[in-house]
Amino acid sequence: QTRYTVDFQEIRRLGKGGFGRVYECKHKLDESTYAVKKIPFPDQEHAEYLREVKILAALQHPSVIRYYQCWIELGVSDVGSSSDEDEMMSKATHTLFVAMELCTSTLHARLEAKIEKVPVFRYLKELLEGLQFIHEKGVIHGDLSRDNIFLDDHDHIKIGDFGLARNTGDDSIPIGDGLGNMMYRAPELSIDPRLISTKSDMFSLGLVLFELSCPLATGYERARQFEELKKSGEIPEETVDETSREIICQLLKKDPQQRPSAAQLLHRYFP
Ligand code: ATP
Ligand code: MG
Ligand code: MG
Repeated sequence: QTRYTVDFQEIRRLGKGGFGRVYECKHKLDESTYAVKKIPFPDQEHAEYLREVKILAALQHPSVIRYYQCWIELGVSDVGSSSDEDEMMSKATHTLFVAMELCTSTLHARLEAKIEKVPVFRYLKELLEGLQFIHEKGVIHGDLSRDNIFLDDHDHIKIGDFGLARNTGDDSIPIGDGLGNMMYRAPELSIDPRLISTKSDMFSLGLVLFELSCPLATGYERARQFEELKKSGEIPEETVDETSREIICQLLKKDPQQRPSAAQLLHRYFP
């Protein structure tokens, strides 16, 4: 018996990422449901694997996934292994457990469902508030995308997945560098990953805003339009409303310094 099996009842697997798997769990005492992430790791690399939790733990905000607790257990449980994980798995001797707020949906799922009209400007405001807070805390998310932006039961934005996040000024290259969603990646990162800044998040936000205000038909079509956008910086006129176009245009500037900060956009568009 372990702390995990004593305290939690595993309900279902929510998904799997590069480093671990995430399960929906019910806490046996408080009877509430949580998302618990299990990250196997080799003993020596302790510090590297705690980066994500340390960052998340320091960020408490209504637009950021809430963190509850973490602990380490000896041994690697049922995490399985596919070929690409073999190397990491064979070295892993411990598992880091991270209990977080459970989010029932993501922007990805919301856009795929194509049900009602997306509340673009409310989402944008909540995203900007979250990002303003994160950036003020000296954190760069580093992997903002429709998959890493969650929605709670009341349809409020929760920024999550801080697996590639880092503190500004920390120019070490974290494990998992080069992972993350390439489609949302700011152009300066292709030149040199060390050029990452809070403005790289703002670029990704520009692409998120684009797809919010112009829900696209297929994944293929979206990939193509993203490429177009990144190349030309021009937004097809018929696709989005005037205000979104204006904001997207500013966020997709090639020069990171020319992109507005979250605070500036909040001030300008949501005074
Ligand atoms: P990669 O490492 O390849 O970038 P990832 O970082 O997205 O993957 P995780 O953050 O471990 O992987 O998340 C794995 C899956 O679990 C994702 O599909 C995500 O949607 C889901 N998930 C993560 N956190 C939560 C949460 N708090 N509530 C609900 N689902 C979650
Ligand atoms: Mg993710
Ligand atoms: Mg991740």
